[in-house]
Amino acid sequence: MNIPLSILRKISREEEISLNQLKEFLASGKIAIPKNKKTKNKRFCGIGKSLSTKVNANIGTSSEKRSLKEELKKLNVAIEAGADTIMDLSTGGDLKKIRKEIIAHSKVPVGTVPIYEVAIKAASRYGTITKMDKNLILDIIEEQAADGVDFMTIHSGVTQKGLAAIKREGRLTNIVSRGGSFLAVWMIANKRENPLHQSFDEIVKIAKKYNVTLSLGDGLRPGSIADSTDKAQIQELTTIAEQAGYAIENGVSIFIEGPGHIPIDEVGTNVKMAKTLCGDLPLYLLGPLVTDIAPGYDHITAAIGGAIAAALGADFLCFVTPAEHLRLPDLQDIREGVIATRIAAHIGDIAKGVRGAKDWDEKISKYRNLRNWKKQELLSIDPKRFREYRQDKSVISDVCTMCSKYCALKVVEDLWKRRRNRKN
Ligand code: SF4
Repeated sequence: MNIPLSILRKISREEEISLNQLKEFLASGKIAIPKNKKTKNKRFCGIGKSLSTKVNANIGTSSEKRSLKEELKKLNVAIEAGADTIMDLSTGGDLKKIRKEIIAHSKVPVGTVPIYEVAIKAASRYGTITKMDKNLILDIIEEQAADGVDFMTIHSGVTQKGLAAIKREGRLTNIVSRGGSFLAVWMIANKRENPLHQSFDEIVKIAKKYNVTLSLGDGLRPGSIADSTDKAQIQELTTIAEQAGYAIENGVSIFIEGPGHIPIDEVGTNVKMAKTLCGDLPLYLLGPLVTDIAPGYDHITAAIGGAIAAALGADFLCFVTPAEHLRLPDLQDIREGVIATRIAAHIGDIAKGVRGAKDWDEKISKYRNLRNWKKQELLSIDPKRFREYRQDKSVISDVCTMCSKYCALKVVEDLWKRRRNRKN
């Protein structure tokens, strides 16, 4: 929670929150500012109470697609599209090199999920991820922190109790979190408790040393509507809530990660539950996807869930791209995912009463009414898309091809103009 005053002042100005209030919320953990003590010259942001909803974009290689060049292109696309933070979820190629390059090139804070590298190292050293051990885990967490990672997902809430709940109650889609599945496999094979859970105090020490924000991951999040808000999910959230309290007491900022696949009528319950159990700490949601039936359009299903969640108090939305459930996203998927999630965040901000959110809508509507296309383009969330669609111009310069000479706005405006002229 050691953030330079210049950054606090900038966030205070941008978000129109008093410096004292910002400091107070930061100290109590209600706001997190992901910033490794080594990170400099990035666009830092505050995430949490009284602030605008922020958006994270995931990039990173897989074991099949390992091009660093491509991931750096995705990084730029995500940042240009307006992502507030980036997570490097690489699992293929030279992970350290990829991470360092992404950190070096990123203009915004960078997060990781260290258990990926731990599992991959254990698999290459010993032939199985069930040979991960505590020392390897702590070494990699410290190495990533020393590399300048600003926030890390730690799946410390996956416990034997949570796994027993899945076994007892059954699930349609088992465990869908990659980190959660690595830990579950280790815990089942070794018949022991989650090493991230057992070493949480040591992880907090490392996070404190490097000023890393810990994102307490939901490794048992529901992966389908049928599994939403089940016992395993709630059990994990309860564990995370206790760990979060410990981290905050020890001067480490926290995000609480949330699901996942949640039907629209349960989104409010989930936001309220996480906020209440965890003492109003910043809530970071992966979606939520409010239906399972739309592969290829999951940026839309997640944006619907994300908008509702943000309106009800979620602080940080992880993007979902059209490629979700289908493939590693390409550049266009990344762009669409960021824009869709920014729309969701903004919808939430209107409902939350975030300063300036409604003004943005009012400005664009004013110019829409005036049919000022240049100003509308500048104010639109995606000016590039705006320009592409406006290529198809109407023969009448100030309307569009939708209603053309029957432009509703123009028809009424012309009538009023004629009436005013007659009076004069
Ligand atoms: S033509 Fe129709 S859609 Fe286009 S600006 Fe006028 S009212 Fe709007």
